[in-house]
Amino acid sequence: METRPTEQRISTRIANVAESATLAIDAKAKALKAQGLDVVGFGAGEPDFPTPERIARAAAKACLDPQNHRYTPTAGLPELRQAIAAKTSRDSGLVVSAAQVLVTNGGKHAIFNTFATLVDEGDEVLIPSPYWTTYPEAVKLAGGIPVEVPTSLENGFKVTPSELDKYLSPRTKLFVHVSPSNPTGAVYDLDESIALAQWLVDRDLWVMTDEIYEHLVYDDHKAWSLPVIEPRLLDKSVVINGVAKTYAMTGWRVGWMIGPADVISAAINLQSQSTSNVSNVAQRAAIEALEGPLDDVALMRAAFARRRTLIHKMLNDIPGIECPMPEGAFYAYASLHGLLNRSYHGAVPATSAELAEIILDQAKVAIVPGEAFGTQGYARLSYAMSEDDISKGITRLAELVEQSEPI
Ligand code: PMP
Repeated sequence: METRPTEQRISTRIANVAESATLAIDAKAKALKAQGLDVVGFGAGEPDFPTPERIARAAAKACLDPQNHRYTPTAGLPELRQAIAAKTSRDSGLVVSAAQVLVTNGGKHAIFNTFATLVDEGDEVLIPSPYWTTYPEAVKLAGGIPVEVPTSLENGFKVTPSELDKYLSPRTKLFVHVSPSNPTGAVYDLDESIALAQWLVDRDLWVMTDEIYEHLVYDDHKAWSLPVIEPRLLDKSVVINGVAKTYAMTGWRVGWMIGPADVISAAINLQSQSTSNVSNVAQRAAIEALEGPLDDVALMRAAFARRRTLIHKMLNDIPGIECPMPEGAFYAYASLHGLLNRSYHGAVPATSAELAEIILDQAKVAIVPGEAFGTQGYARLSYAMSEDDISKGITRLAELVEQSEPI
């Protein structure tokens, strides 16, 4: 019998996947906390609020009903698909049928399904950077090539059509859009959204639009849905969303993708061979979430807005840090260039990754270095925590910076 020439235990495709840096930092901070150390963690990408009680109660009730102990259809409970269609038309104005909805194990799974369904070997996917760390990894897993399109702090971390044109190739298939953005908190205004939508139609490209932070926008900012402002995009749009951020339900794992009928039925086939349906009880909780009012998210938004003002001011008060005002989501994305190449009790960071290690070791403050999002020299700080903790953590950071010395 012929043997394989070399033994390779892990497949090349999986060996090339990077660990989620945000989850890794969070795990390290939690491990230090478990040792009894007082760590302030700005790493986590999740609301610090409990899931509203009415939702948890609906789930508890669902647990006791034997009909929920069975499989549901792969695509999700018909009532939930209907509730998602209704919610989408209420919130973004996109009118879709329940058949265009696939319920997935969180938004992340919807993103995986989308790339797996649309991307062929060698297809290029345009991803503005800084980007949420999952996008390029999920593209690579699908056999595609992630193409980073750099943005800058000066232009609010947003891409423009003329920038995008520079990265276009005959293999470009798809553009990834997220507004409000993780990690930058940037929100595209109406004119910017129209310009992007127009560009996509003119170039005949697909778009995956991640709308998971749609309700977390501040001041006059608004999340625009590209296929709503440009209906000619409809046939080439996939919308990603979920209950995680809006209803403080990260752990329940309910998300969805919405798209043209052929894309959704292909993605249902994929899901039927991989994960099947999302937990029945979690789907029942999601129905309660979506059919109920949006008053809990209004309270969370008000709290996030106060925290945003606080963290923005405190960060910019530290010499060497520059942080634009976040417009949505719950992240501040700051330039730390002015803090590099200084001595922190003898340790001299050349990169934001090294600086993040030093800050965790010496100040017991966890931040996610920009390397995780494709931009060295920056860091993402989640402000999904109490104002007291924000003050405590940023004060510690300020003290560490104050004690640092030029080299
Ligand atoms: N999209 C973005 C931009 C996110 O930040 C997240 C969560 N960090 C998700 C999607 C996925 O959320 P989940 O899988 O928890 O639904």
